[in-house]
Amino acid sequence: MSITAQSRQPRRSPLLQDSGRTCREPATTVQRVQLRTELTRQRAILLANTHLSLLTDEEPEMHPDPIDQASTEFGQELAIQVRVRAFDKLRHIEQALRLMQTNDYGRCRQCHREIPFGRLSVKPDALFCVPCLTLIEQGAARN
Ligand SMILES: [Zn+2]
Repeated sequence: MSITAQSRQPRRSPLLQDSGRTCREPATTVQRVQLRTELTRQRAILLANTHLSLLTDEEPEMHPDPIDQASTEFGQELAIQVRVRAFDKLRHIEQALRLMQTNDYGRCRQCHREIPFGRLSVKPDALFCVPCLTLIEQGAARN
């Protein structure tokens, strides 16, 4: 009734440096835990960054020179775009973390197959497998 050391040994596979074989297979339980850790980490970073950017928000400057004014507006536009993208990413990560609780995580929303770990390790908040995403992007490009 002794638990052997072998069966208890955790499988150590660095998240981003997995062997090619396991990369094409669905994520194991251990890998899922790694992915959740990674998602939580990314969410913390994003939250910290968005809070930071809210704090450093400045009043819009007004310039008498139209070129200066344009560059200020361009900078503000860029800052907004960066923030929108950060919120988007945050939304995807929150969704992925929610899916983990219902066990739907790692399943393609299009073909319902398991997304290979290789893809999830690069993009833990992926909602589609690569073949489906390619089709979706091709469809979007045509429109
Ligand atoms: Zn798919």
